Amino acid sequence: MRLDSVFHLFLKSACPLCQRPTATEFCLGCQKELEQQQFCDPAQFWQEQPSVFAWGDYGGALKRAIAQFKYCDRADLARPLGRQVAQAWLAAPVRRDLAKPTIVPIPLHVGKHQQRGYNQAELLAQEFCHLTGCRLQPNGLQRAQATEALFQLSAAQREQTLKHAFILGKDFQRRLPTAPVLLLDDIYTSGATVRSAMQTLRRHGVRVKGVIVLAKAMPWKTKERQ
Ligand SMILES: [Zn+2]
Repeated sequence: MRLDSVFHLFLKSACPLCQRPTATEFCLGCQKELEQQQFCDPAQFWQEQPSVFAWGDYGGALKRAIAQFKYCDRADLARPLGRQVAQAWLAAPVRRDLAKPTIVPIPLHVGKHQQRGYNQAELLAQEFCHLTGCRLQPNGLQRAQATEALFQLSAAQREQTLKHAFILGKDFQRRLPTAPVLLLDDIYTSGATVRSAMQTLRRHGVRVKGVIVLAKAMPWKTKERQ
């Protein structure tokens, strides 16, 4: 074996989704599968309440990638996943209405943050802001209480529990942003979390324009699959 091919072997790592060796973050096959989840128009939910900008449909390889990112200590996946969102944002016409927004990642509850070691939304926001030039405000919001086991609750109970889930973070307590704010999260499901975060900011006079997410769950599709 030639020396350079030996080096090449060491440079290769396992694809986080299929464990095959790859020189890129995801192997070509998995990258293709990821792209199949990508929305043709990430701004298709922007006219809804709240406005949502979503890179892809929460399912398939995207769902598996997010699971690795969040639950398997793969903080490094923030880079390729955040890059995808940033590229979609840079190409989207909706961006022109929002010159220089401040990005606020949805915070995790302190206990969960410590347990995981990182907030996946914050890491995505870091990569996003690095590539788009948007201003990052990681402490714009703070969790007020633990909101674990939400999945056991009905939609109405969930909304009620989440109503007071956030307080103004220490950065915004010191000084409120003058620029419009966009929230950023990994997954958007019922929207209850985002609505609660928006209400908290708006109560303090912050102009929140919408949320940017890596993946949006499509409820009717989930039903179809069952
Ligand atoms: Zn793969």
